[in-house]
Amino acid sequence: MTDRYAVIGNPISHSKSPLIHTLFAQQTGQNMSYEAIEAPPEGFAATVQRLRTEGYLGCNVTVPFKFEAFALCDQLSSRAREAKAVNTLIFRDGEILGTNTDGVGLLADIEKNLGFTLMWKDALLLGAGGAAAGVVWPLFNAGMGVVIANRTITKARFLAEEFTGSGTVYARRYEELAGQQFDLVINATSSGLSDELPPLPDGLFKPGALAYDMMYGRETPFMQFARKQGAAVVSDGLGMLVEQAAEAFYLWRNVRPDTGAVLGELRK
Ligand code: NDP
Repeated sequence: MTDRYAVIGNPISHSKSPLIHTLFAQQTGQNMSYEAIEAPPEGFAATVQRLRTEGYLGCNVTVPFKFEAFALCDQLSSRAREAKAVNTLIFRDGEILGTNTDGVGLLADIEKNLGFTLMWKDALLLGAGGAAAGVVWPLFNAGMGVVIANRTITKARFLAEEFTGSGTVYARRYEELAGQQFDLVINATSSGLSDELPPLPDGLFKPGALAYDMMYGRETPFMQFARKQGAAVVSDGLGMLVEQAAEAFYLWRNVRPDTGAVLGELRK
């Protein structure tokens, strides 16, 4: 029998997750299917319930349902509790288990695929939404201090307060970044979707700095800005997408796929 999985989001038609999981399954010989399901804005819980009733074994969750997924779980991993957002559900023994693989995915891409060392370095995290919330704790764990900048400063402050005591973290307005420099600048805003650039000052990048945009599929204004400003390495978020998917796949199937091969295939 084919084991069934899915990703739930809205919108979802653009999602590369079905292709990624299909490639993982082919590569590792797993008998499984993975489809994209669009849930109506008020219909996330009902969609999850339908999947459980129909015998699905788990699903991924994407924009805008990660916080709702967190609230729906019977059991949460420590990663999910830190992020207060869930992107991977496992349906087991009548319960919903939830975790968050976004942070693991980001770090795997930065450290393993891009070969960038994080320990003792400074990170600037742009944005304070679900994606940003999922990576603050993993950045601390990797030994980084984190400045969070966001258009709506109250959200950045709220996020920073959540993590105060766990590591070095500050919230800043964009205009307060002038004169500061960072080893790693992560764009976790959705500004690239509208071809916009957060109002960043010149001179943000330290020598050897990595500029990372979580968006993928196009050269964003942030990536163009980083190249002009002399960032040593500029990356989109496709590697993060593949790595967070691999972690979910491992939790479901207990097999680790070769992410390099799948990333190479997607980059073609
Ligand atoms: P949210 O909607 O939760 O948050 C959006 C964030 O972007 C907010 O901080 C918002 O600021 C900010 N923002 C939006 N437009 C602009 C703009 N024009 N200028 C400055 N700031 C802006 O989205 P998510 O956090 O879930 O996702 C953010 C991005 O990360 C998306 O592009 C998503 O595709 C990507 N992502 C990629 C992943 C991967 O695996 N590669 C995984 C997860 C996310 P404000 O609070 O002021 O509204």
